[in-house]
Amino acid sequence: MFVVMIASECAPVAKVGGVADVVFGLARELELRGNAVEIILPKYDCMRYDQVWGLQVEFADLWVPWDGGAIRCTVWFGFVHGRKCFFVEPHAWQAFFNRGTYYGFYDDAQRFAFFSKAALEFLLKSGRRPDIVHTHDWHTALVPVLLYEIYAGAGLHNLRVCHTIHNFRHQGVTGREVLYATGLNRPEYYGAPERMGDGLEHQAVNFTRGAILYSNFVTTVSPHHAWEVRYTDLGFSLGHALYRHQLKFGGILNGLDYEMWNPEIDPHIAQHFNVTSFDRKAANTEALRERLLLRRGARPVIAYVGRLDTQKGLHLIRHAIFHALEHDAQFVLLGSGSEHGINEDFWNLKRWLNDNPDCHLEIGYDENLAHLIYAGADMLVMPSLYEPCGLTQMIALRYGTVPIVRDVGGLKDTVFDWDFSDRPRNLRNGFVFEHPDHGGIDSALRRALGLWRNEPGLFRELAKQGMAYDYSWNHPGGHYLGVYDFIRHK
Ligand code: ADP
Repeated sequence: MFVVMIASECAPVAKVGGVADVVFGLARELELRGNAVEIILPKYDCMRYDQVWGLQVEFADLWVPWDGGAIRCTVWFGFVHGRKCFFVEPHAWQAFFNRGTYYGFYDDAQRFAFFSKAALEFLLKSGRRPDIVHTHDWHTALVPVLLYEIYAGAGLHNLRVCHTIHNFRHQGVTGREVLYATGLNRPEYYGAPERMGDGLEHQAVNFTRGAILYSNFVTTVSPHHAWEVRYTDLGFSLGHALYRHQLKFGGILNGLDYEMWNPEIDPHIAQHFNVTSFDRKAANTEALRERLLLRRGARPVIAYVGRLDTQKGLHLIRHAIFHALEHDAQFVLLGSGSEHGINEDFWNLKRWLNDNPDCHLEIGYDENLAHLIYAGADMLVMPSLYEPCGLTQMIALRYGTVPIVRDVGGLKDTVFDWDFSDRPRNLRNGFVFEHPDHGGIDSALRRALGLWRNEPGLFRELAKQGMAYDYSWNHPGGHYLGVYDFIRHK
């Protein structure tokens, strides 16, 4: 199959969040299975040019119709760790992608609507006729709409689109004028509630709603989240549209990059280990203590790694810190937030706990330290209020660190409770709690710490059972190919 991904991010060249890892990881898996994959991205001024090999002009004069005129673009080609990537560079006074950062501008909807249009124009003019176009999140959600309404008639009629929604909170809601710019000239038609009209904001259009209607298949990033967005308020007003189109909607768990996250070869950890040499993990715990100036001794290390965002259950993370300290355990946190108030709260907490020999809060982003924490911690908490998929718990499992998670989204699909899961004992891999309150997380922490203390042999077994799970791209790659095959023959 020939698959073209159209996305606003791809790791490591242009990465803000998890979508970048999915685009890269899935593309690589599809190629390993013998498919041809190309990725189309904006050419940002701030992207990591050191991660692109052989950057050269592929298409010098791509004229993209826009707002009654046309904008000239240059399309560049380069390899990103073996993936074939095309970068669209518009030469426009708006400087769409020359702004020093990826997102956060008043005209983001215009910027990515333009990119969606340019990507299709590139497919058309360069003679590319992929079997599947795979788009990601609201940034490229207009692609299926434009394809069906404009480009099918211009020659791209055999393309099938799979659209993946990574985060339902951001849907691309904007004024109708952007539709004119793209050539979708009937606002009352496209803006109708059953098409792209936003469910909440009167007169606004919603790109993601368009993608749900016009794509051949829509996925989100875990099976349980696919259920949640249809039946609970986690669909952020898209539940009804998804319900209506549920025959072409499903959840596929994200994969983890098993080359990057591998305790057998990880260059950032103190001692390599695997399931059979599990005892060596202890050397990483000592290295972690040494690096963060924690005292040595027979007490477990509980960790949190991740963004400091309300979504992650911040009040429960805070509570877990004090629970650990009251129950003779140690706590390590690595995280940073985009909101000033949240960072400030954690800075205050850090100052408050500064001299505690059993606690270290690192506020910032540190890829290397993250690796050592996953390798050195005994347990990892992830009390998210919602979690479309979550990679952190999968990384923890890979490093023999027992996850303690809330029963939501992708966490529910990947972590199975030691005491209460309906899976056989030898397939359980962590601790799960349901209610997002102190009682909920206390009960899970108490059970985890109890097992660590009273049944160390069983705790080791639990950690090793987690390591035996395969959360690589192997299974998701197969599932996506199944979806592609299904829509190709529809
Ligand atoms: P989300 O996509 O909601 O941020 P995920 O669990 O899917 O959460 O992915 C988080 C990824 O980002 C993990 O790989 C985690 O290790 C990494 N990460 C998050 N915060 C930090 C940080 N402060 N320092 C280093 N790595 C981080």
